[in-house]
Amino acid sequence: MKVNAQCNNCGHVYEVELSILTGKNLSHFNGDFAKTNYCYKNGKKCNENKNSNEPKNLTEEEWREVFNYAEIRMDWGLEDDSTLEEFKRMVYAVKFDYVNESPGYVGDFYIIMGSAMMMPLFLTRNKEGLLETEKLME
Ligand SMILES: [Zn+2]
Repeated sequence: MKVNAQCNNCGHVYEVELSILTGKNLSHFNGDFAKTNYCYKNGKKCNENKNSNEPKNLTEEEWREVFNYAEIRMDWGLEDDSTLEEFKRMVYAVKFDYVNESPGYVGDFYIIMGSAMMMPLFLTRNKEGLLETEKLME
């Protein structure tokens, strides 16, 4: 049985199989909503990863997502016959597992920058897991 859970460590809201919540990681459960002491990200407890603010490389799948993202295609003037390899030579890209001070867990955060010193594009994921452009505070 799956229940909704929120991680007390990083604020991440997720669905979890009730049977894997044990006394150690479960801090509160009211019958349908669980509070957990930590969640798992990439197979690691998120609280073991707390200071993992290092930049990460995009996976091939993430490169493809960025390449197919409408705003990127427009900004970089990508044509139907543009290739991912050409695109990779045009941009600088980095990923962070981002936690905001408020409201908390953000998750994938991408910075995509061109070679012309224009403003970089900041991308995060929405609730459906799709990329969206992040408007940062000024
Ligand atoms: Zn967590």
